[in-house]
Amino acid sequence: MTAPVVRFAPSPTGRLHVGNVRTALVNWLFARREGGKFILRIDDTDLERSTQENEDILKEDLTWLGLTWAATFKQSDRFGIYDEAAAKLRALGLLYPAYETAEELDVKRKIAQSRGRPPVYDRAALSLTDADRAKLEASGVRPHWRFKLSGERVEWNDLVRGPQSIDTSSVSDPVLIREDGSYLYTLPSVVDDIEAGITHVVRGEDHVTNSGAQIEIFMALGGKAPEMAHMPLLVGADGSALSKRIGSLSVGQLRDQGIEAMAICSHLAKLGTSDNIEPRNSLDQLAEEFAFSKIGRAPARFDEADLENLNAVLVHALPFAAVQDRLAALDPRADNEAFWLAVRENCARVSSARPWTEIIFGRIAPDIAAEDKDFIAGAGAHLPAGELTGASWGEWTNTLKAATGRKGKGLFMPLRKALTGMEHGPEMAAVLPLIGRARVLERLGG
Ligand code: GLU
Repeated sequence: MTAPVVRFAPSPTGRLHVGNVRTALVNWLFARREGGKFILRIDDTDLERSTQENEDILKEDLTWLGLTWAATFKQSDRFGIYDEAAAKLRALGLLYPAYETAEELDVKRKIAQSRGRPPVYDRAALSLTDADRAKLEASGVRPHWRFKLSGERVEWNDLVRGPQSIDTSSVSDPVLIREDGSYLYTLPSVVDDIEAGITHVVRGEDHVTNSGAQIEIFMALGGKAPEMAHMPLLVGADGSALSKRIGSLSVGQLRDQGIEAMAICSHLAKLGTSDNIEPRNSLDQLAEEFAFSKIGRAPARFDEADLENLNAVLVHALPFAAVQDRLAALDPRADNEAFWLAVRENCARVSSARPWTEIIFGRIAPDIAAEDKDFIAGAGAHLPAGELTGASWGEWTNTLKAATGRKGKGLFMPLRKALTGMEHGPEMAAVLPLIGRARVLERLGG
């Protein structure tokens, strides 16, 4: 295979949500795996709903995820080029003006349905004479423009869905240009895919029907249609459409909640595939494991709780270098490798390290039960001499066991509670040297 060229084509009309990220990720991983190129196309033909702010945030989010692009461009810079393509289609007799209002089209659809026919546009506009059109336009009606489908079958071998066949006589001729002259997404997308040399169009299953028309437009404009891959959509854990919850699942919010970029990528790369969902440390590793053939055809269920669990597993193993900046920002005392290595397994997110800085380096209210008071008060006398190390806890508790006869929970729990104020937490062997002799003795009340 020659190196693929793929694109991710979001509309900057809102925040990047997990469904979009999955599409971006699959494109990116495929390009990476095959040594190809990933292009970011900004689909901002809807000038009213697209904003520069959304575009900037989208780029920030992709960058944070590590999904960098080899080139980027926006459709709003290219209206002249779409006009040329439209002129070409008109000259070929494949783009025709239609004058029905939305209400008229609605009535036509209802009539067709009541007669048991599919609600396909009846092409009445094709029977208009020049005089009819002149009259309509003189009365102020402006046309929208439809692409004339061949009425034949369009077939392709989808990399995810297998052989596809769309009977274009069962689909309405798509509107490419609105009354006000603005473009719907269908034509610009094809024009851009041809010009950018896109070899594979990888996107959501909601575009399968578009593909029928778009393949015909590719051919009409003299291009060869790219390979196609349509992924099943993501649904919520309860099977409902994910889009209803887009707000709570935007990348920005997940990041603010402390979800790691690699947790999102690991989860979304494997969701709905035949691979297990396990954390991965790099996009390169995910790319190595990527194959279209692993993507299943059923809707993939996205459960935020699974993502949180995966995030925790990933955080537990993050090396200090990966988190140092964030720890320093949480608390200067957390900028300490031994500290991170001691507490990370208790952290579901990096920011969960914060309370441990106070517990270890700050002041705590030790929690000592009445029956443990004497034991704790006497424990300091047995603390190994010199600087406390990773071996000190073992030595100390062995000595205490011999001296007091306490063992198991009765030995360890009062010490943990006295030294950390908590019943659970990181390994005491790692925590003890961080607390340090002075604070240990102070907390034991000695
Ligand atoms: N802007 C379109 C969308 O977000 C792009 C679809 C495509 O990849 O062709 O749905």
